[in-house]
Amino acid sequence: MARIVMKFGGTSMAGTERIRRVAQLVKRQAERGDEVAVVVSAMAGDTDRLVNFCREANALYDPAEYDVVVAAGEQITAGLLAITLQALGCEARSWLGWQMPIHTDSAHAKARIGSIDTDELLASMKAGNIAVIPGFQGLTDDNRITTLGRGGSDTSAVAVAAAVKADRCDIYTDVDGVYTTDPRIVARARKLKAVTYEEMLELASVGSKVLQTRSVSLAMKEGVRVQVLSSFVDESAPDADSIPGTMIVTDAELEKYQVERQLITGIAADKNEAKITLTRVPDRPGAVANIFSPLADANINVDMIIQNVGRDKGETDVTFTCPQADLVRCTDILENRRDAIGYNRLIPDTKVTKISVVGVGMKSHAGVASTMFSSLADRKINIQAISTSEIKVSVLIDEDETELAVRVLHTAYGLDAE
Ligand code: ASP
Ligand code: MG
Repeated sequence: MARIVMKFGGTSMAGTERIRRVAQLVKRQAERGDEVAVVVSAMAGDTDRLVNFCREANALYDPAEYDVVVAAGEQITAGLLAITLQALGCEARSWLGWQMPIHTDSAHAKARIGSIDTDELLASMKAGNIAVIPGFQGLTDDNRITTLGRGGSDTSAVAVAAAVKADRCDIYTDVDGVYTTDPRIVARARKLKAVTYEEMLELASVGSKVLQTRSVSLAMKEGVRVQVLSSFVDESAPDADSIPGTMIVTDAELEKYQVERQLITGIAADKNEAKITLTRVPDRPGAVANIFSPLADANINVDMIIQNVGRDKGETDVTFTCPQADLVRCTDILENRRDAIGYNRLIPDTKVTKISVVGVGMKSHAGVASTMFSSLADRKINIQAISTSEIKVSVLIDEDETELAVRVLHTAYGLDAE
């Protein structure tokens, strides 16, 4: 007997027919004698619809009331799944965020989970009752409803799994696992048996949208064993306990799943970055701080930074990237401080893509970056900026060259399936 948390995303919950399929999967897990808690997303598209209602009601809506509105999507699917499970002869009930409760801070629309009360929940699960929990929602200390930020149901599931000390947290989605790269770009992309928390964190943060980034860091911190797998399967499919999907594990556990370590685990392309170049910035102490301090104060996340060699004595160009969503705020801040910074021109560019190669293997191997640079050079792809971490190398290139770059690198690192 095991304790399993199962999480189903919006496409898996979209409509009564799909909810019935989800209920079958849950029933099958419960029939193994396991204690089961299910965390659900709203039906695909419903959260967007609710967000739009708020915007239409008042562009400057109160985030506390926004949370009341958008949390409703998950309340509907939680109730519907409980009803459907009951129709299949299972004992099931819903546990809304405020009923457990799931305690969060009061940062409405992007709240963080503090703790979860599990006594009643666990007693109910032990008695054979399937717990159905709406993802994405929680409760502040002063009893206001909160939501966790878009994609937050993944984080709810991991938090519940940590709180009930689940043996595994299975994240069911519309893909059957984590791939070496986007299979829509590279037909020979391979499904990975396992990735490490660190790798998944890097992949999630550079645009692989399988899991909310925050859920991965929480799983890593709490040591929750997570599997990503597909809900779009029929009765003949292998059961979840045989690990048909991708496991997210520690470095040490990885060997159990992979005989041979690849140097690179995955390649991701992120089209949501923007590039800004400031020309003729004074080349003196404090100049760069003048640019980046106000951006940091405005909570704008700057990623890649290059300071070019000055063309004239005493002047230099500075190029950096930030999320495209922050570009308007970013240029606004810098234009207002043009005299204080002392630059000549501000050149924004949104036609860029950040390509990242990720793999724990590069901790102990040299040459990963040079393979990347030379493979791209062979295809005449120009690199506009570079950044690295211990297990990742990212380059910024022209957006039009995204597909070509991903394919070339997938081959160069030996990731193509036979
Ligand atoms: N329904 C929420 C969203 O669309 C949360 C989730 O699905 O994870 O962002
Ligand atoms: Mg999601």
